[in-house]
Amino acid sequence: VPVRSGSTQEEVRRHNLQAVLHHVHLQGPTSRADLAAATGLNRSTIRALTADLARHGIVRERPPPAGGRSRAGRPSLVVAPEAHRFGVLAVDVTVDKLVVAWVGLGGQIIDRREHETTRRAQPVAAVVELLGEMADDLLGAEAPWEACIGVGASVCGVVQREDGLVRFAPNLGWVDAPFGELLRARLGRPATVLVGNDADLGALAEHTRGAATGSDHVLYISGEVGVGGGIIADGHQLHGRGGYAGEFGHVVVNPTGRRCRCGSRGCWETEIGEDAVLVAAARPPGGGWPAVLEVIAAARAGERAAAAGLRRVGRRLGAGVAGLVNAFNPEVVVFGRVLADVFTATEATVRERISTLALTAPREQVRLVPAQLGEDSALLGAAESAFAPFLADPLRTTGWPTAPFVRERLAPPRDDLGLQSSVSG
Ligand SMILES: [Zn+2]
Repeated sequence: VPVRSGSTQEEVRRHNLQAVLHHVHLQGPTSRADLAAATGLNRSTIRALTADLARHGIVRERPPPAGGRSRAGRPSLVVAPEAHRFGVLAVDVTVDKLVVAWVGLGGQIIDRREHETTRRAQPVAAVVELLGEMADDLLGAEAPWEACIGVGASVCGVVQREDGLVRFAPNLGWVDAPFGELLRARLGRPATVLVGNDADLGALAEHTRGAATGSDHVLYISGEVGVGGGIIADGHQLHGRGGYAGEFGHVVVNPTGRRCRCGSRGCWETEIGEDAVLVAAARPPGGGWPAVLEVIAAARAGERAAAAGLRRVGRRLGAGVAGLVNAFNPEVVVFGRVLADVFTATEATVRERISTLALTAPREQVRLVPAQLGEDSALLGAAESAFAPFLADPLRTTGWPTAPFVRERLAPPRDDLGLQSSVSG
């Protein structure tokens, strides 16, 4: 993104720091020469920026491995994110399990705790207490709270973006559950807690690190019991007024169909969700992802009921995607969680439906792919959402927790760049 004309020197510097850190965070260790090429900044500017970031313990500069020399013959230092000094706590509340992970700058999951849950309603307070215990255990082992620059949480439900109020999560039995507020109180730390919908965060993760990297027009369709969606339009996530956009699973496709958990009838998720696959393949509903995998295996082994059921679901999946392709003109449609398996098993049927039902012009431009980050899409998206404010302004002088173990290692602040005491506060 170009800096607008008339920006102050400080704005330009912040913009450039953001570009450099963002690149290192997403691409991993990068030589200064490659950073210059990627950002379009000259070598001396890159040197000043990476020195700033290094002085604040945000990146580490090290000599390149043997052979890594710039064209001029001088070695170009490699800039790596300080994954163990700065990180975020990422939380994923799914239908089947709770996950709490410590994710270092650079996006690697350094350590994690998981807790299997039953598919029954659970009081929000009990879930938050469990997550708190998992976080205490994890951070006790991995990193002090002082290294935590934010908390991001994903919930399989309709989430009010501004405060993390979960308006509706049928699998958890939550209606207007103040999850964000309770989690913030339980963690008891100053770190910001951002809560998002699992499909929105899955879209974010697949866009930044997965199957849709480099595309600015992305639809992510995530399925398990329910079906949700995330939308990236023109490179930006589309949230809607309250953060509820993308509920593709509750688009009514069959008004005389099955009753949906939302109270409506014939929503898309009643036609392509886990239970729809199981019922179409003459199995009892409720078996979850493993039961869907069993149907896929049985169809491959030649079982007719399983194959016919999958084809039926594939047709409904393709018909729905055709409508979304017409509505959004995406470059990539990513299928997440159990829908990644369903799509892979029914790909020919899905593609046939889309060629028949979608408009030619948008259909010609779309790619259909399974998610790349597997079960961790939403977890990694929650981490990215927690990193975002830090990446946008890494040398902000207030607001980040000051990490004692970072402060000890800092060289004395320099005055010439107006940076004095920015980390030590
Ligand atoms: Zn519905």
